[in-house]
Amino acid sequence: MKKTHKIICLLLLLAMSAVACCVPASALAFGDVDGDGRLLAADARMVLRASVNLVTLSEEQKKAADTDCDKAITAADARNILRLCVGLGNTDDSCMNGMDGATLVGISQKGYRIYVKNGMTYVDGLLIANKTYALPSSYNPGALLNECYDAFDKMQTDAWYGAGLYLYEISGFRSYETQQNLYDRYVATDGKAEADTYSARPGHSEHQTGLALDVNSLYESFADTAEGRWLAANAHKYGFIIRYPKGKTDQTGYIYEPWHIRYVGVEKATKIFNSGLCLEEYYGLTSVYAD
Ligand SMILES: [Zn+2]
Repeated sequence: MKKTHKIICLLLLLAMSAVACCVPASALAFGDVDGDGRLLAADARMVLRASVNLVTLSEEQKKAADTDCDKAITAADARNILRLCVGLGNTDDSCMNGMDGATLVGISQKGYRIYVKNGMTYVDGLLIANKTYALPSSYNPGALLNECYDAFDKMQTDAWYGAGLYLYEISGFRSYETQQNLYDRYVATDGKAEADTYSARPGHSEHQTGLALDVNSLYESFADTAEGRWLAANAHKYGFIIRYPKGKTDQTGYIYEPWHIRYVGVEKATKIFNSGLCLEEYYGLTSVYAD
């Protein structure tokens, strides 16, 4: 009797937790049943439970779990998710949320799906440019993207009126060609190995994304100025992360750059800031040149 009671309680808890963790549809994508942005065995387990009616999935979760888009949650979906977790599966574009026409090329070490669309790499909806992932030379937004520009504008205003500090852009968007010239110049001066520690090869610069900019100073001492300290403490509130933090050179592939900020949106910036990790660690990505 007691044992049955326990099992019923457990099932109720499972059902409740499934219903309670409803997440906005935008957070969900193909196979990511709990909407945490990752594709893990836990997602497959949840689908298996749902398929034998042990848990109830929300409408959004059902949509995300339905890997073959047949509108039914079955063990086949769980199998498919498991295969995707280990990088064996393929995706059906029509199932994907905001990634139409994208191809799943792998799963990161932290379980995030890595998509390629038009030659560009996306993880958790973020365009990735680092030493592993390059942008095509044809990608040229021409300037900072609006969301990045507007966020910086707001941050600049708040820093000025709230703290009397002046933040200003010294380098924003850089085209593939501009980066090529810059990198070639550095290589001519310092040699390739040295240049690679502080300047990106063309196609690998985050400045080409239109979502990154350098502010105020290109010296490490910027970190100890009032502006540098304010930026480090507040950038995430505006959707920016300090992209190449101190002590993360092995992960990011770059020296500490307290001036280089990348726009990822407030929600993700806050999560990354609170994690104390750099972008590569947070998503389980590498940043290493192939040659
Ligand atoms: Zn920069």
